[in-house]
Amino acid sequence: MKSTAPVSKNQQLDVTISDLTYQGLGLAKVDDFSLFIENALPGEEVTIQVTKVQKSYGFARVVAFKTTSPDRVTDIDKTYRQTGIAPLQHLSYDAQLKFKQHQLAELFKKAHMDDVTVDPTLGMANPTQYRNKAQVPVRMIKGQLETGFYRQHSHDLIPLTDFYIQDPEIDKAIIKVRDLLRQFEIPAYDEINDKGVVRNIMVRRGYYSHEMMIVLISRQQKMPSQAQLVEEIHKALPEVTSIVLNVNAKRTNVIMGNVTRTLYGKPTIEDTLMGLTFAISARSFYQVNPQQTEKLYQMAIDKAGLTGEETVIDAYCGIGTISLALAKHAKQVYGVEIVPEAIEDAKVNAQKNHLTNVTFAVNKAEDQMAKWQEDGVKPDVIVVDPPRKGLAPSLIESAAKMAPQKVVYVSCNPSTLVRDVKLFEEQGYEVDGPIQPVDQFPQTPHVESVTVLKRK
Ligand code: SAH
Repeated sequence: MKSTAPVSKNQQLDVTISDLTYQGLGLAKVDDFSLFIENALPGEEVTIQVTKVQKSYGFARVVAFKTTSPDRVTDIDKTYRQTGIAPLQHLSYDAQLKFKQHQLAELFKKAHMDDVTVDPTLGMANPTQYRNKAQVPVRMIKGQLETGFYRQHSHDLIPLTDFYIQDPEIDKAIIKVRDLLRQFEIPAYDEINDKGVVRNIMVRRGYYSHEMMIVLISRQQKMPSQAQLVEEIHKALPEVTSIVLNVNAKRTNVIMGNVTRTLYGKPTIEDTLMGLTFAISARSFYQVNPQQTEKLYQMAIDKAGLTGEETVIDAYCGIGTISLALAKHAKQVYGVEIVPEAIEDAKVNAQKNHLTNVTFAVNKAEDQMAKWQEDGVKPDVIVVDPPRKGLAPSLIESAAKMAPQKVVYVSCNPSTLVRDVKLFEEQGYEVDGPIQPVDQFPQTPHVESVTVLKRK
């Protein structure tokens, strides 16, 4: 197909950046043609070189800055952008928070929901070293086992020891495990030839408890020198209370396989959130930014406006974090989640916290919602916290049929949020009050928010 683009590959030109995309790329328009440019901020005048041309858009890189934005942070390490660990590191934190608020507001405006307003993003005082979980690939480079992160859009490993947005204790643990793997000469996975052993290392550390879990993701059922390795890991890292082997023998980009075995300690670590205790197993979802999660959940709970008399549904409940926090203020809570291990954790967590007014189901949220509706469950409030792809239309229909007064929508993806809010509006709901973004992922373009929908 012949390109109709007004620019061609390798061409150099001067542009002014007009916007920042939801991926954190600078946008420049040439006629109506969009060029996406890494490391470029709104208002900046730059000389660019076109690197890729598609039919209606292209990519370019900055060759020279003629002016720079007052929001630009200059003291940065560019590996964090190259790896996608911190693609917004070059934007000041205040501007990041405004960017996230603006993102949501623009999307609602574009969807012709002009009366929806968005509050300023709730940020962090220290927006680095916040992640309680790391998942890093392990590869051989020049015969030596390395841990780090992939260069964006590739599987080239860039060795890293400081991950910038992770709990530094996790960074230290990764280095220790790396050194022990080297010492025992356990080979890293070789993707190209589908050989070798260790594919990834996952580390989770309780923010309050300081309990640490190390998950070794292996292509083999048993790693060479496994017993000695495990022994040395827990000797070297006193916080480790759980070492887990996850076997993934498939040729796939999916990180974890289906077999998980505890090699040392317990299969879970514990942490607290909102004064509740949670057991978290290797394959369960747990919010990565504990400090902000408490703010996010508190917001969701406040907005639910519970008096102790309500029936509440928590869809996409994971290990029951929101469900249990709600249970303290409601009559009955129903939770649903697709990962069986997470529901096992959720049930243990209900017991741990002496909460008996919660029922958990393993199911697809959309199917369970239909089932609850058929069974005549009458929720006063429904909380949803779906993954990035948002809600299934059938879930919205079943939810609306149960006629809750309120739906509290915790979203990690503004575009699916807007789509779903539209569907709720068609079912007789309207947005109640401003949307509240909470920055769960500083230095990245991810936008988390809480929206309340009220039955008209
Ligand atoms: N509310 C929880 C989890 C939110 S993350 C917390 O804050 O900790 C989204 C969760 O939805 C994950 O646990 C994921 O396993 C689950 N999930 C994904 N698709 C699902 C589906 N179709 N039905 C139910 N749960 C699903």
